[in-house]
Amino acid sequence: LRIISAEPQNNEQISDEELRPDTLDTFIGQPQLKAQMKLFLDAAQLRGVAPDHILLAGPPGLGKTTLSMIVAHELGVPIRVTSGPAIQHAGDLASIVSSLEEGEVLFIDEIHRLPRAAEELLYIAMEDFRVDVMVGKGPGASSIPLTLPRFTVIGATTREGMLPSPLRARFGFTAHLDYYPTSELEKLILRSADVLGIHVDTEAAYELSLRSRGTPRVANRLLRRVRDWAIVHGLTEVNADAVRDALELYQIDSEGLDRLDIAVLNAICRQFNGGPVGLNNLAAMVGEESETVETVCEPYLVREGFLARTPRGRIATGKAWSHLGLTPPNDVTS
Ligand code: ADP
Repeated sequence: LRIISAEPQNNEQISDEELRPDTLDTFIGQPQLKAQMKLFLDAAQLRGVAPDHILLAGPPGLGKTTLSMIVAHELGVPIRVTSGPAIQHAGDLASIVSSLEEGEVLFIDEIHRLPRAAEELLYIAMEDFRVDVMVGKGPGASSIPLTLPRFTVIGATTREGMLPSPLRARFGFTAHLDYYPTSELEKLILRSADVLGIHVDTEAAYELSLRSRGTPRVANRLLRRVRDWAIVHGLTEVNADAVRDALELYQIDSEGLDRLDIAVLNAICRQFNGGPVGLNNLAAMVGEESETVETVCEPYLVREGFLARTPRGRIATGKAWSHLGLTPPNDVTS
């Protein structure tokens, strides 16, 4: 398990819960999105109707589930939670939508992974608030239309491009969540520390934010590990030294890179002289699946400018060479 992974681990959903803000005001960062969302919700409330369906797109761990709970909380309505992979048949979705209350929020995580037949049922439910229930089997089967109360679907996706356009078109409001700048992660860490009842000084919050890969879930997880370290070492307040020492133990460096990230950069620079190198060769060199290297390491390394993808393969940038303390060959300048 990688401590810097943006996906929830083990029972982390439970610890995620206690750190979830429940109002738009306490949701940290994403100012533009919050302003748009507030307007959208206020308008619906003034009109006295359930708001249009909402699509939340963005990488894992940035607050999509949290935002959907905030929407339900702000509207004062219940929320039902499901996910694309949890729905195996259209019938599963039919029974969920037909039991919704007026105004209820239906949160569908990983909505891009809904089975085809369920997707089609969802189009109709979202647009016409109707579901066709099949009665009987074979030639005698017939479908009975069932009218649904008005409800609001909030779909979350990490792969917006995989959503079929008819489904995308049914959302009245789409929000894209972005990685958080360190200044916002610092605030988030201080807030979480408050909730967890630990003292973290501002420099420590800053050091943690630098290592959180722009992702609230990672920030909260690192904070918990640092809390463990502080407890074991009998500290009453977490300071920057504690953060550095604790995270060194977990092999997370000053830029939030872990052992695998470093192994990838080392392989490109040392074994392949800076690249270009193909994904499969690179993965073999670090002893990982190509998919892990591609989906887990690369996005962050590319985003932070350590690695570039070119048509001929991956290359290490000047930043990678200097981060490893190595001198690049003459032609690497960027
Ligand atoms: P996603 O659904 O996008 O994977 P979550 O909503 O589950 O992400 O968020 C992961 C964790 O990060 C939760 O514990 C949540 O409380 C916290 N979190 C995410 N975004 C924010 C934010 N803007 N402010 C405060 N906490 C946040």
